[in-house]
Amino acid sequence: MEGGSHGIVASRPGPLVPGLVVHKYGGTSVGDLERIRKVATRLQRAVQHGRKVAVTVSAMGHTTDRLVATARELHARPDRRELDMLMATGEQVSIALLSLALQDQGVRARSLTGAQAGFLTDGAFGSARILQVDPAPLVRTLEQVDVAVIAGFQGSDANGELTTLGRGGSDTTAVAVAAALGVAECQIFTDTDGVYTTDPHLIPSAAKLERIDYDEMLELAALGAKVLHPRSVWYARRYGVRIHVRSSFSFHDGTIVSALPRAQEAAMKTDRPVTGVAIDTEHARIDVVGVPDVPGVAARIFSALGAANVNVDMIIQGVPGNSRQQMSFTVPRDLAAEAVDVVRPVLTEIGGGDVRADEAIAKLSIVGVAIGSTPGLAGRLFDAVAGVGANIEMITTSEVRISVVIAKRFAEQALAAVHEAFGLGRNGPT
Ligand code: ASP
Ligand code: MG
Repeated sequence: MEGGSHGIVASRPGPLVPGLVVHKYGGTSVGDLERIRKVATRLQRAVQHGRKVAVTVSAMGHTTDRLVATARELHARPDRRELDMLMATGEQVSIALLSLALQDQGVRARSLTGAQAGFLTDGAFGSARILQVDPAPLVRTLEQVDVAVIAGFQGSDANGELTTLGRGGSDTTAVAVAAALGVAECQIFTDTDGVYTTDPHLIPSAAKLERIDYDEMLELAALGAKVLHPRSVWYARRYGVRIHVRSSFSFHDGTIVSALPRAQEAAMKTDRPVTGVAIDTEHARIDVVGVPDVPGVAARIFSALGAANVNVDMIIQGVPGNSRQQMSFTVPRDLAAEAVDVVRPVLTEIGGGDVRADEAIAKLSIVGVAIGSTPGLAGRLFDAVAGVGANIEMITTSEVRISVVIAKRFAEQALAAVHEAFGLGRNGPT
């Protein structure tokens, strides 16, 4: 859970730099020199219209993946500090190249690393949190040039150590820049033209959303919709920054992520209680069976998992009353083997039981701010899932979502059926 107080907000309300717009371009958008020139042209246009731009960029294309793979060739479990040092070079290439492309087009531009741009983080290499963004270096830079080009996904800690914010973290950099400079909107340019009712690569009838609420977007991002980094949405909600997710290949409007106006929220309850459907096939289910049904057993198991840094998502337990109990939970798939290894010795200590992992699962979720207050949605969801012959293995709910776990082989069919059942397709009822 995200929490705590972060001092990234501008010290006074309103923009610190007159006419400033905040943009972010992802890896695909700066994937080669031609695309970098296109981004430069778009920024040049903004400058010609009298704007200043604080632009955050990711590493080119799949650079970060390649850097991580290279590190792994030298060391099976690379040191996190060195990995951050390596990964951060990707963004340093793209900020310098974009600045050069801008200068070539006659635009005054300057690149800044995360540290140079005032990003102070904690010391958690590989998943550092932003503690503070000092707006002064960006304000100063934007007095001297028209475009400040900021390296996404990086900062430095109180000891001056270089840190990264977690994969996909450039979105968070961009939102933090907007918050720190008092800009109301952060435009995130990407390779899709917005946020969809579900993954349009899987379901061609998926519809683009005009707006989506922060809470819904947070759920969808956490559930694996890759369009925005979850932490960026969390920052945006906290600091009231509107996010405009849009295509870097067109000038069309994309999707606005913001707090929904009350009236609209009320209307949604009747019209369209479900905003989106997410499918996540990156988790495994761990079943713990035949453990003694006595106080403290769950505490022992989950404390051990916590101590080993295995983050647990859904948890269910069998009906009490028997002398033996069973429980199941989900973990990221790449931690499944570790979870089993952690739980096994605990079972020996507490007097028996067995543990096994099922990696062939999918988690399907419906998301919408009105879900908690609209009756009948669970039944409709379960009906649609049953309709494709899938058995529901686990269920969890919150105010804004209902999730079920099913066998992975039903994932796509079930997704299509649920999307259809809630009338989310472009041709469906609205
Ligand atoms: N380049 C980093 C990554 O691939 C950060 C980002 O693109 O947002 O994770
Ligand atoms: Mg991204």
